[in-house]
Amino acid sequence: MAQVAISNVAKAFGTVKVLHDVSVDIPDGQFVVLVGPSGCGKSTLLRMVAGLETISGGTIAIGERVVNHLPPAKRDIAMVFQNYALYPHKTVEQNMAFALKLRKTDPAVIAERVKRAADILDLNPYLKRYPRQLSGGQRQRVAMGRAIVRNPQVFLFDEPLSNLDAKLRVQMRTEIKELHQRLKTTTIYVTHDQIEAMTMADKIVVMRDGRIEQVGAPLELFDRPANLFVAGFIGSPS
Ligand code: ADP
Ligand code: MG
Repeated sequence: MAQVAISNVAKAFGTVKVLHDVSVDIPDGQFVVLVGPSGCGKSTLLRMVAGLETISGGTIAIGERVVNHLPPAKRDIAMVFQNYALYPHKTVEQNMAFALKLRKTDPAVIAERVKRAADILDLNPYLKRYPRQLSGGQRQRVAMGRAIVRNPQVFLFDEPLSNLDAKLRVQMRTEIKELHQRLKTTTIYVTHDQIEAMTMADKIVVMRDGRIEQVGAPLELFDRPANLFVAGFIGSPS
């Protein structure tokens, strides 16, 4: 596991600036939630940590290493997306094994890691199925399984629950938190849902218009919001 240090990060798409001087530390082993309205720059920031977007200014470090110019495969992170991004023509087992196969991991190690992920996520009955034969919650578990088998230093989640119905969303929140308690992997979790942020986070980062408004533990933000935006956002029902 590693700390992620985001220092004075900026991002522009052409002449449009979407992140301005963003600095935040994600401590080793913590579950940190980036929350804010749609379009405020959450996914862009996460994608920069993942190496899927270039960095226009500032630095991002994972552990001891500044990763600004490292490709995603060298960053020791694993990302879980909203749309799951599963391979439709591979089984659950093959989906989980694929990234390790690409990295020429020893087959015995692959088998052991896939088994462990399947045990943790209750996926054993579904290993030979294809994504289209799974429910939304099961697909999301496979997407998490693909991340777990990599044994990454950092998990990145981008609105992983927003395609699920309300009941399943509540259940998956609990599952993701249990997963974190078990593995203690440093996690950055993006959502626009303040309830999700309040219930899941060790630390919440509230963003608006490409800037950080406040960073704090859930109760701190609730009790002492820095401004009306944070008060309104954290205090309103989702
Ligand atoms: P969020 O995830 O908080 O909803 P995003 O990070 O997706 O927000 O987007 C932040 C801003 O950057 C938005 O105004 C969005 O339109 C813009 N943006 C995101 N990706 C691109 C891109 N590839 N090209 C141009 N503008 C983009
Ligand atoms: Mg987004």
